[in-house]
Amino acid sequence: DALANKIAAGEVVERPASVVKELIENSIDANSSWIKVEVEEAGLQKIKVIDNGNGMTEADAEKAFLRHATSKIQDETDLFRVNTLGFRGEALASIAAVSRMSIKTSEGDSAAAWLSIEGGVVKDRAKSDARKGTEIVVEDLFFNTPARLKYMKTIHTELGHITDLLNRLALSHASIRFEVVHNGKPLFNTAGTGDMLQVISQVYGMSVARKMLPVKHETLDFSIDGYIAKPEVTRASRNYMSTIVNGRYIKSMQLTQAIVRGYHTLLPIGRSPIVVLAIEMDPVLVDVNVHPTKLEVRFSKDKALFTAVEETIHAAFRNASL
Ligand code: ADP
Ligand code: MG
Repeated sequence: DALANKIAAGEVVERPASVVKELIENSIDANSSWIKVEVEEAGLQKIKVIDNGNGMTEADAEKAFLRHATSKIQDETDLFRVNTLGFRGEALASIAAVSRMSIKTSEGDSAAAWLSIEGGVVKDRAKSDARKGTEIVVEDLFFNTPARLKYMKTIHTELGHITDLLNRLALSHASIRFEVVHNGKPLFNTAGTGDMLQVISQVYGMSVARKMLPVKHETLDFSIDGYIAKPEVTRASRNYMSTIVNGRYIKSMQLTQAIVRGYHTLLPIGRSPIVVLAIEMDPVLVDVNVHPTKLEVRFSKDKALFTAVEETIHAAFRNASL
């Protein structure tokens, strides 16, 4: 019911950046190779995500807004082998409960279904031209939850969260072409060639990309691959450290600390490096089910992983004679 949806929404939809995250992860799960994101007033006014992914049938589009409607879990063992980004079927229902939303989607072979939903209730339905993919527009976020709306920080802060998130999503999906626009102005575009260093250049700029050292290391359990900035390229925050596990951007304080330890004394006190590290491991070794927004994870072989990361980074500097 509407109240339960609103309450649950609070868990998934904390701020505009959470909406952007869930919509883009759905586009990624739908095998999109191109994702365009248009944001107005840091997402408080409007968030539009367009993709060229698989799309949905009209019937699936109607179901997608129901809580626990997910096409991504076949049986319970799947929960332990999660490869897609979403798997709880809560995001669309939650976003729809606290916004005015419209969705246009087609699998490409027939006319697109168009639905307009307000506070979780379908208001209007129509047919539209067939274009394979999905377009979701979220407007007036938190219009019916004024308490939540009051907690929103400035446009500057909310846009910072969105930019930070989009940077990391682009970095963790170098094969997807991203187009990001805020208030009509491009924030960044990536080429989608699969080249991580190119994405670093497109997102953080050429001068940063030039200062990156490649790292590559394999152990029995983990493969570590990515770029670390030379110690001279530092930032005041850890927002420029991206850790990607099995294609999913994650947050792990311990992993971040292991990276910083890898810099030994090379990093000035109070500064953080720019790093993009992609780690691959058997999915059974990582538990992504810790929090509904799925940023936090737990590793089974955590000590071994952190040691490998630290040593790999330190070795990269040794090899570069830094
Ligand atoms: P989850 O991603 O956890 O399955 P969501 O609430 O995010 O749950 O999405 C519900 C369902 O809607 C998905 O399982 C998927 O089938 C469908 N869906 C959502 N967004 C898209 C999209 N951009 N392209 C294709 N299907 C989508
Ligand atoms: Mg999802």
